[in-house]
Amino acid sequence: MKEIVLYHPLITHKLSILRSVETSAKEFREIISELSMLLCYESTRNISMKEIVINTPLEVYKTNRIDKEKITFVAILRAGLSMVDGIVKIMPTAKIGHIGLCRNEETLKPELYYYKVPNNIENTEVFILDPMLATGGSAIETINKLKKDGVKKINFLCVIASPEGIENIKKIHNDVQIYCACVDRCLNDRGYILPGLGDAGDRLYDTK
Ligand code: URA
Repeated sequence: MKEIVLYHPLITHKLSILRSVETSAKEFREIISELSMLLCYESTRNISMKEIVINTPLEVYKTNRIDKEKITFVAILRAGLSMVDGIVKIMPTAKIGHIGLCRNEETLKPELYYYKVPNNIENTEVFILDPMLATGGSAIETINKLKKDGVKKINFLCVIASPEGIENIKKIHNDVQIYCACVDRCLNDRGYILPGLGDAGDRLYDTK
C-alpha cells in the first residue's frame, strides 16, 4: 500500500516551525496537536458511519454520524501521547488505547511493557499514533500486537516518516496504510531522521 503524504502550504508552514531548534516545547506541542488534527481529517475519510434520524427545527432528516464503536486510536508512548490532544479535539468521542515499548538492551528489539486498549478493539479500525516513523521497530511491534489481538484494519499516522521506516513496515505489513505530513531524506547512524526535528519526546516534554 502506498503511503499517503499530506501536501499543503499549512503543513509546510507548521513543519518548518516544528523543525526549528528555536521552537519552544509549548509551541512544539501546539503544532503537533494541529498537525494531528489534519492527519486525522485525511486518514478518516472512509471510516464507518451509522445512519441516524434527527429532527431539524423544520423537518425530520435522515443523516449519518461516526460510529464511535468502530474506531480506535492507539498512541505509542511517549511521543504518541502528544497527538491525542489534536485527535480528540476534532473527534471528541474517539476511544484511545496506549502502548508502551522499550528497547531490550540485549536483543536491541522493542519489548512491550504496557498495553491498554478499549474492549472490542478487534472489531474496530485502528489508527496508530507516533509523530516520528524512524526505523519502524516500534510501529512493527505495535502492529504485530494489534494483529495478534484480532485487529484487521490498521493505519499508521505520523508527522515525519523516514523512507527506511516506510519500507520496513511495508516489507512485513503491506496492508497497513501509512499517513504522514512529510517523508524526510534518511536515517543517520543513530537512528535519527534527517533533516528531522531531533528527539520528538525530548522536544515535547523538555527533557534531555
Ligand atoms: N524518534 C525521534 O523522536 N526522532 C527521530 O529523529 C527518530 C526517532
